[in-house]
Amino acid sequence: MSKILIKNAFIITMNAKNEIYDGGSLLIDGNIIQAIGKVPEDLITKDTEIYNAQGKIILPGLINTHVHLSQQLGRGLADDVDLLTWLRGRIWPYESSLSKEANYLSSLACCVELIKSGVTTFVEAGGQHVDTMVDAVAKTGLRANLCKSVMDQGDGLPAIWNKTTDQELQTQCNLFEKFNNTHNQRINIWFGLRTIFNNSDLLIQKTKQLADHYKTGISMHVAEISYENQYVQETRNSFSTVDHLHKLGVLDHNFLAVHTVWLDDREVDLFRDHDVKVSHNPAAAMKVCLGFAKIPEMIAKGIDVSIGTDGAPSNNRMDLMRDMYLTAMIHKGRLLDPLTMPSEEIVKMVTKNAAKCALRENEIGSLELGKKADLIILNAQSIHSLPMYDPIANIVYTMSSENVESSIIDGVWVMKEKTILMLDENQLLEDVIKYVENSSYQQLVKSRFPIIKI
Ligand SMILES: [Zn+2]
Repeated sequence: MSKILIKNAFIITMNAKNEIYDGGSLLIDGNIIQAIGKVPEDLITKDTEIYNAQGKIILPGLINTHVHLSQQLGRGLADDVDLLTWLRGRIWPYESSLSKEANYLSSLACCVELIKSGVTTFVEAGGQHVDTMVDAVAKTGLRANLCKSVMDQGDGLPAIWNKTTDQELQTQCNLFEKFNNTHNQRINIWFGLRTIFNNSDLLIQKTKQLADHYKTGISMHVAEISYENQYVQETRNSFSTVDHLHKLGVLDHNFLAVHTVWLDDREVDLFRDHDVKVSHNPAAAMKVCLGFAKIPEMIAKGIDVSIGTDGAPSNNRMDLMRDMYLTAMIHKGRLLDPLTMPSEEIVKMVTKNAAKCALRENEIGSLELGKKADLIILNAQSIHSLPMYDPIANIVYTMSSENVESSIIDGVWVMKEKTILMLDENQLLEDVIKYVENSSYQQLVKSRFPIIKI
């Protein structure tokens, strides 16, 4: 196994004491961190690759807890439209018509954008062709929790998505048996519930039983829009989505609730009491007009909250660093409190807290002895991020994906000094352009200003 020694770096460990090593070194042996801080000479072998990170910042790889790989090629299909048009008029028709090949291309493109924004691990919300998602993640070197988005009911669903409860449960089990813990444990399979509108009580309960049986996680969009609670009152004889999920026994440590906008204080307490994990998606929540989740209030109660970008049509950039900035900003503005959501809290949300939300806290989320070697190298030497008096604040408030220079996942360089190493990025760009040229979706998007062809 080859070794990599990174030296002279400003290493933000995110360990239990949040220690930072200035002028520190980090030694990777295979896919594991073998030494950090000061590396003993005798651990450095003749064939160790030595990388000088003078003037650069090393951070644990970022963890994005809500991604839709399948939606990447739908970016720009549904801008400035109401939610019903977004869903039924644009995204469902797009997503339901994706071939396996197109889904692979969409996943590859998404994975590359994630790597460029400093993400080394992500949690997928669920699409349909999970096997090609696995291929894309395997190819690009990322770490991921993948799942199928299951649906057994709902108005206006594309016919191809009409599946029975049993079919959806069986598919999830098959995917788990086939792909969980594969690719050197980089890929785990989770169970993916779509929304309360699209999932019967039976599907929700059985999914929970299976997730417990397989000791894996569940991801679900929860309390996204205010109408959701009215719908639950009318159809399920419960007060709200969270109230109903509680009655079904789903709220638990292995349940990742996404968006979680329409919760009252009692429901936040239910999350805390059952150790529910949360994925906050600030850009998507504003763009698709969901509202502002009570994130500082949840954190104050001890709930593990992480950050997700959501999919490309609802963000529209898969840039977690931009969502870190937004998370800090919108809650200060909402609560009129400059002390809320400080930058150290934001960095925790995308590293060690996100590792808990992804149920991978023993492997990743901090740079410590024995943990998996997932890290990013930030170059702060850019005009938009200098001067740098306080690196932690600088990362959140001034840096963007442009500052992410290199990325190591599972002990392997996947991006080095801005070059993606696992595939030919120019070819990928060509493939995406070709896909768009051949797609009928272009007609859905009308020009806002008159175009005069010359
Ligand atoms: Zn989503």
